[in-house]
Amino acid sequence: MKKYFTLFSATVFLIMVALIIYPNFRYKVITEETFVAIQPFGEFSTKEAKMMQQEISDFYHVNVTLLKPIELPKNAYINVKSSRYRADTLIRFLRKNIDSNYDFVIGLTDKDISTTKYSNKSTKTIKEPSYKYADWGIFGLGFMPGKSCIVSTYRLKEKNFRSRFIKICCHELGHNFGLPHCFDTTCIMQDAAETIKTIDNVQLNLCNSCKKKVGYHEY
Ligand SMILES: [Zn+2]
Ligand SMILES: [Zn+2]
Repeated sequence: MKKYFTLFSATVFLIMVALIIYPNFRYKVITEETFVAIQPFGEFSTKEAKMMQQEISDFYHVNVTLLKPIELPKNAYINVKSSRYRADTLIRFLRKNIDSNYDFVIGLTDKDISTTKYSNKSTKTIKEPSYKYADWGIFGLGFMPGKSCIVSTYRLKEKNFRSRFIKICCHELGHNFGLPHCFDTTCIMQDAAETIKTIDNVQLNLCNSCKKKVGYHEY
């Protein structure tokens, strides 16, 4: 018993030391040596994918490669309320298939994507009303921190299309870099809170606190 206790104490001590040395361990510092791949799915517009390649590289100052389009994985397809692809399955698929040359991959699709919204993630309690949130249509989803994210243009109507699309892609990549939702209303990492208006009201900008966390450089 004593042996286990010593082992436990030593582990706790090491974790604390690691946290002191690397307080920002959950954040990934992005540099010009960071490689991001864009993976278009199906018939996704090449023009829009190319535009996003430029925008992400301009915003985060990282290397962005546009990959050849591939089909959406069939196991992500679901038809609960309407034809959709599960965002969680798509980001797992992207993470699993990412070429080791890339640090991050962002998938782009024009199909509708969805996830389950929980009121309590640890107990997997679906947010009420559950018929609404069990399969909830979204703009994008990304692991935090993680290697992959997915953005869909399906819910982006013509109004402000381009700026909405860019902000959502930079937001989901921000999650991959380890950034959680931010309370600064001038920051693209704020929670869209189920409305596109939040996205329209924010400039394409990271607040100083988020910038610092990922080592963002102004050029
Ligand atoms: Zn988010
Ligand atoms: Zn922020």
